Amino acid sequence: MKQDVKKFRVSTQLSMLGRNPDEQSGFVNSPVYRGSTVLFKTCEDIRQNRARFAYGTQGTPTIENLENAWSALCGAAGTVISPSGLGALALALFSVTKAGDHILVTDSVYRPTRQFCNTMLAKYGVTVTYYDPLIGAGIEHLVQDNTRLIMLECPGSQSFEVQDIGAIVAVAKRHNLSTIIDNTWATPLFFKAHDHGIDLSVEAGTKYLGGHSDLLMGLVSANASHWPALRETYDAMSMLPGAEDCFLALRGLRTLHLRVEEAQARGLEMARWLAQQPEVSRVLHPALASCPGHENWKKYFTGSTGLFSVVLNDRFRQDNVDDMLDNMSVFSMGFSWGGFESLITPFNCADYRTAIAWAPEGLTLRLQIGLEDIEDLKEDLKAGLQRLYLR
Ligand SMILES: *Cc1c(COP(=O)(O)O)cnc(C)c1O
Repeated sequence: MKQDVKKFRVSTQLSMLGRNPDEQSGFVNSPVYRGSTVLFKTCEDIRQNRARFAYGTQGTPTIENLENAWSALCGAAGTVISPSGLGALALALFSVTKAGDHILVTDSVYRPTRQFCNTMLAKYGVTVTYYDPLIGAGIEHLVQDNTRLIMLECPGSQSFEVQDIGAIVAVAKRHNLSTIIDNTWATPLFFKAHDHGIDLSVEAGTKYLGGHSDLLMGLVSANASHWPALRETYDAMSMLPGAEDCFLALRGLRTLHLRVEEAQARGLEMARWLAQQPEVSRVLHPALASCPGHENWKKYFTGSTGLFSVVLNDRFRQDNVDDMLDNMSVFSMGFSWGGFESLITPFNCADYRTAIAWAPEGLTLRLQIGLEDIEDLKEDLKAGLQRLYLR
């Protein structure tokens, strides 16, 4: 769009960003550019590298449309896009670390991120301390001479602790440390990471941006100080997204606000309903007071989405949960989330946490609330909770 889209409110921006009908023969949506070779007219053009894109790995208008749209939405200096959320996390971490550095990573981090730190970063001589997600300003005691980065994830993967982002960012600024957040759950619609002083914000576009369980993508947005190193890392690794995937993500962008608002309403209704069921001990939903760090959610976030967890009463064992989950009729079991379909999965963070013991009073389930009829979802869960008593 030729005009300054940023002067409009967010849903208007989502409708306008990343397309330019004047350059598209008037068509509403931009075409999908696929390609490796880009042609030059003269030797001089080649010598001077005179081209908007000199080769397919340097990007295409399709990729650039999505990069620019995401940067505008996030209030970022720039965005790079990779073929998966984990790929985006890897790019962000590589862009701010070097051999000999120490980094602080929340103990509630997405498990594959932990795996990346413990294997790839360790191999390149970066050491990691995992910290209690609810540590707040106390993180200052963990800062060492060679500490380079604090990584946050809000809310925590599976366990949903909400961190005191302001207190942690203040410590990072005092010690000149970079900050990265995995902001997948809230999306930039409900948490604007850069406005809160965070340097790099990662979104698994696989989740709400895609929204239909048919896309893998990761986006990293950077503020001005961290943008050059991020782009350099991305160019060096050539971890670029496919054209069709960018097209799907741009399509997802148009309805992102509708889908996350709907996810918010449904997630809250189901979370409150579950809190009233006698089989449920606690609901871990950031917008409910029963969630660790709920006061931080109130302080920093402008909304919640459709993913949360529950702790069952301690009388139920694994075989009871098997009876429940093996026979659901609307909810299915599977990883990922943010699609149109409801999911329920068992999880246990105790196996891998290192900073703090994770020991809830009962077995735990994570729910993604989809777009099915809410009464069908409640009936399916009600029947499932009854199956907990079968043996
Ligand atoms: C799914 C997810 C990722 C990774 O995204 P992929 O595209 O599956 O690699 C990263 N962070 C969070 C919080 C996620 O839920």
